[in-house]
Amino acid sequence: MKKLIASAVMATTLFTAAAGFAEMGSGTDPRVALASLMDGNKGFAKQADVSNLNKMSSVKRRLEVATGQHPDSIIVACADSRLSPEIIFDKGLGEVFVVRVAGNIVAPHELGSIEYALEHLGARLVMVLGHSACGAVGATFDAADPATGIVPETAMEGNIGSLLKDIAPAVEESYFEGKEACIVTNVHNVVEQMENESEIVREGIESGLVKVVAAKYDLTSGRVSLLEEEEHAHH
Ligand SMILES: [Zn+2]
Repeated sequence: MKKLIASAVMATTLFTAAAGFAEMGSGTDPRVALASLMDGNKGFAKQADVSNLNKMSSVKRRLEVATGQHPDSIIVACADSRLSPEIIFDKGLGEVFVVRVAGNIVAPHELGSIEYALEHLGARLVMVLGHSACGAVGATFDAADPATGIVPETAMEGNIGSLLKDIAPAVEESYFEGKEACIVTNVHNVVEQMENESEIVREGIESGLVKVVAAKYDLTSGRVSLLEEEEHAHH
């Protein structure tokens, strides 16, 4: 019996090693990861080139990553069906760790997922990706009082309302600059919130291991633009 337990422990250890748990900060340099994302997006936007996605979705690749994952980047994106990160960045199996929720916002489940990928999968780049004409930000914008730009409590009830509640600060901040400005503010707010509410993200940035970037995808051009850090006006 003892022997069985011992071998079970050993099997677990081996499994963990095989599953490829990586040390924090052991993965690809975040600048390299970012360049790879932007490069993939360039090809997609220009000529709908997703050759890397195709190559990296082969049976060979599938089997290669079945025993472990070391994604180069974490992408927090909207659930909108028109911007699958794998497609718009031309990335295949095991390359991007994607967290998706309407309005690309972060609550404990999303932060926990990000922390998991930073701590155990070695990823060092986090991209928060908003997009043009976002329905979730749009719905929050439309719920706001046109005179004040304030989102009423009544709009924040229920499960859908919980999304509006987390997007509301961005809408209230930028209401009079219009919907697209609210989308940009929301991305910056999420970046800031991530730093404030996740010790792992904060320590990763402070130690220089982790980089967090804000970006926006344009549904029409297919292009992802990095949002200037200077626009991150809260600091
Ligand atoms: Zn959206």
